[in-house]
Amino acid sequence: MPDFFIGGSWTNARERHTREIRCPADGSLVATVDEGSSSDTDAAIAAARTAFDTGPWPGTSPAERGALLDRVADALERHRAEFARAEALDTGKRLVEAEYDMDDITSVFRYYAKLAAEVDARAIDVDRPNVESRVVHEPVGVCGLITPWNYPPLQTSWKVAPALAAGNTFVLKPSELTPSTAILLMRELDAAGLPPGVANLVLGTGPNVGALLSTHPDVDLVSFTGGLITGRIIMAAAAPTVKKVALELGGKNPNIVFADADRDAALDMALTAVFLHSGQVCSAGARLLIEESIHDAFVDELVNRASMIRLGGPFDEAAETGPLVSEAHRAKVEAYVAVGVAEGAVLRCGGARPDSSELANGYYYLPTVFDQCTADMQVVRDESFGPVLTVETFTTEADALRLANDTDYGLAGAVWTSDPAKAERVAAGLRAGTVWINDYHPYVPQAEWGGFKQSGFGRELGRHGLAEYQETKHIWRNTAPAAQHWFGG
Ligand code: NAD
Repeated sequence: MPDFFIGGSWTNARERHTREIRCPADGSLVATVDEGSSSDTDAAIAAARTAFDTGPWPGTSPAERGALLDRVADALERHRAEFARAEALDTGKRLVEAEYDMDDITSVFRYYAKLAAEVDARAIDVDRPNVESRVVHEPVGVCGLITPWNYPPLQTSWKVAPALAAGNTFVLKPSELTPSTAILLMRELDAAGLPPGVANLVLGTGPNVGALLSTHPDVDLVSFTGGLITGRIIMAAAAPTVKKVALELGGKNPNIVFADADRDAALDMALTAVFLHSGQVCSAGARLLIEESIHDAFVDELVNRASMIRLGGPFDEAAETGPLVSEAHRAKVEAYVAVGVAEGAVLRCGGARPDSSELANGYYYLPTVFDQCTADMQVVRDESFGPVLTVETFTTEADALRLANDTDYGLAGAVWTSDPAKAERVAAGLRAGTVWINDYHPYVPQAEWGGFKQSGFGRELGRHGLAEYQETKHIWRNTAPAAQHWFGG
């Protein structure tokens, strides 16, 4: 079956290039898919443009859009196992994590189904006789949606659901490493009754497909989740056509533990914060900031537990975390760790591939802890997007906040303390889009998600997330037009 979905039909790439998708856990072949070029992308943009300019979708009622998104959510529930398996095979993550992702994705579609159906207009009292003034929201147009490989269907749902809820059409380009769930989602959007050309899918690389989505004059909005460097390229590429741009970029997130914190919980969650999905999480708690008085005992135990983490593939029920997504990504993490060693960070555990023949065909890397780090080190400043924790110490609350905010990023962070006033002060002082107090990683679709500083701009999810996919229009209606005779008698 062809892999691209353009103008309501499944189709092959025009120039038949293919890519083998291999499971990162063992290198086994998952699928061979078509890879697109600029001519496929052009065709998909043209289909989305026509569907927006002349098709019925932008004019459908909010209730119809909401009903369609609900039908998609129903289908996601029915096909949960199939989607989760496809995600686990593409990413190498544990099946159980992929299943959690599916529950999140379903709730995202349900959430936007509700939001879509809300009537969204605001009357303005202009204090003038015979005038009705109101503000309404309309779709932006054709959206280019570009997603990464770490949570492929979840990242996709955060873009596709609000884009559709607001009445847009789109071209989706998933990461070239993890396309399987995007194909499955298109199937369900089609089955739910979306008109042809509203949802389009082209697979391929950033330079071959994504770049055209960020430059093409017929694309009105580009929404991107991925790395900081790519985000900068996309923002610059979108400038000549002044596209609306939404960027969800990386993070180097501080996890602050005070001496008065619940130690067991803080320690346990410090491991989850950084080693979940082998650190391939934008909000990973990759910088542990620990109060000096508890540093030694806390870090000793953390290192002890990190050394015992069991690695394994998606279907190994005893595995606690999985592989990195590709050979190239593991090489990047290895280079990053080498820099840390060279600049004097103290390697307490990991820093190598596992020594196990069972894992030899996968892209595994041992959970790694660098102690005695300082704010000027590259390992503290740069995102590794791997299972690597840096540890810095602080002595005062002000010191903790200064270190936490000493970063170009501002995606997320956490503070652990039993003092509620201190928790609130630190949460208020953290320059990050999400702050957890005595917890790490939970997210709710109703809350907005996005970053401060170079972690991006625009928020996904939440009311504002829909607003990003809308234009705002003020309508002024004179109900008693009459000549004013201001000019020329
Ligand atoms: P990436 O930037 O390499 O790629 C992301 C997507 O952009 C892929 O689909 C890729 O093909 C495409 N792309 C690459 N070059 C492009 C170009 N020139 N023009 C258009 N598209 C292009 O990122 P990645 O390695 O897939 O993902 C990891 C990064 O994503 C990490 O930095 C992580 O922090 C970030 N991330 C952020 C969030 C968030 O919510 N803020 C969530 C997940 C991941």
